[in-house]
Amino acid sequence: MVAENPRLVIFAHPMDIQLNDKEKEIIDKVAQAAQELGLESYLVGGFVRDKILGRRTKDADIVCVGDGIKLAKAVAQKFRPIPEVNYFKNFGTAHIHSSDFDIEFVGARKESYQRHSRKPEVEPGTLEDDQNRRDFTINALAISLNKNDFGKLLDPFNGVQHLEEKIIITPLEPDRTFSDDPLRMMRAIRFATQLNFKIADEVFESVKRNAERIKIISQERITDELNKIILANKPSIGFDLLYKSGLLKIIFPKMVDLAGAEFIEGKGHKDNFYHTLQVLDNISENTDDLWLRWAAILHDIAKPATKKFEEGHGWTFHGHEVVGGRMVPKIFAQLKLPLNEKMKQVKKLVELHLRPISLTKENITDSAIRRLLFDAGEDFEALMMLCEADITSKNKYKVRRYLENFQLVREHCREVEEKDQIRNWQPPIDGTRIMELFNLKPSREVGLLKGALKDAILDGEVANNYDAAYEFLLSKAKEIGVVK
Ligand code: ATP
Ligand code: MG
Repeated sequence: MVAENPRLVIFAHPMDIQLNDKEKEIIDKVAQAAQELGLESYLVGGFVRDKILGRRTKDADIVCVGDGIKLAKAVAQKFRPIPEVNYFKNFGTAHIHSSDFDIEFVGARKESYQRHSRKPEVEPGTLEDDQNRRDFTINALAISLNKNDFGKLLDPFNGVQHLEEKIIITPLEPDRTFSDDPLRMMRAIRFATQLNFKIADEVFESVKRNAERIKIISQERITDELNKIILANKPSIGFDLLYKSGLLKIIFPKMVDLAGAEFIEGKGHKDNFYHTLQVLDNISENTDDLWLRWAAILHDIAKPATKKFEEGHGWTFHGHEVVGGRMVPKIFAQLKLPLNEKMKQVKKLVELHLRPISLTKENITDSAIRRLLFDAGEDFEALMMLCEADITSKNKYKVRRYLENFQLVREHCREVEEKDQIRNWQPPIDGTRIMELFNLKPSREVGLLKGALKDAILDGEVANNYDAAYEFLLSKAKEIGVVK
């Protein structure tokens, strides 16, 4: 038999909330522990917001009037096995993380910020103080877990109404909210993107006024919010708001450089900022992979740097894929994104993003296909996905034709791959062996020999075995003068 989901009936309010069994258990244990300690406790923040919206919740946010760490420890004692409690004494916050649930605890507090620092001065406060310091009305909702009014919704700023109206508003005056903690500007845009809500006009005006203050926030925290925007269903909403608020210019100026179209002799080019956003939305329909989404954001990043107007021809962006690829590590470093194989994958996708287009022409040789398969390797599928997302024509006949062309490229690649198995292929003699054979140190010559061998085999000029490869390398080595 399937048990019905437990519900939390909201006290004196025409609404209730669906909980799963685990959430019901957590709430009961928190309520019990708080009562035993004589503390008031409330569900609050993202948990309440998302439950009312019927969204999936990741963790339960609990606020108590008193010592949040003490409450967390008492709650942990009620679980078997007893989960670990992590806490930050300075902030009065604690976190229980177990295999199947997460609970965040915080003691209710009053807060005021120093103008040039992110370090809040925290002092204990009432529930009301705590709701006042929260970023948005929809995040300031609380539900009582106390015996006398269990389930009562405390909504001092009309958060429920704003959830219905799909609007983001700050509880206090927005200039004060954003000046106290400028990260909230990013959060406003992040929630607008994730929830598809509108930021109230006066609130957005305040973001514009306070945009410069984002500079006091660490890059890691900014990038964290940026990544959440990128992972939303329709990330363009967030980038458009970041752009219009002036925040993007500060946090990611290279992307703003893509905006606008220049005209010479009546000829314009497309606005590469909005084109990029369209590509990002397109790819986001097919993948939740953050790095493929980053590849979409960066695929044309070097267009401004390579832009030229050629007389009688029009606008060109020659080499933007190569220059763009080179820009990727620097942008990742600036944004404090990881400089690992994910960065390399994004770089590779940016570098290769025009290659499949060149293979949509007629009479493409197998060797051109082999080269793409070799260069893309295991990122072949991702590359094709990026190319398909890159079709942003408004003409649906053109879109269909381009998609069909890519379908043909895919088929051609599949045939060649079946025959030659290139994607995970390595030449029969590698760089290390080349150095041994010709007594070379790591040098330009080694790269040259390696590249020449790879090309010769992919082009079908040299058989794919050790002896043939050795013979080829020997003659090539003589040609470039590394052996006599
Ligand atoms: P999500 O978990 O989906 O990111 P959330 O609303 O739960 O959304 P958290 O960062 O987990 O966001 O924070 C929990 C709650 O803490 C928020 O709902 C909000 O009430 C409060 N909060 C978080 N960050 C801030 C901030 N910078 N300023 C004010 N209140 C904040
Ligand atoms: Mg949360």
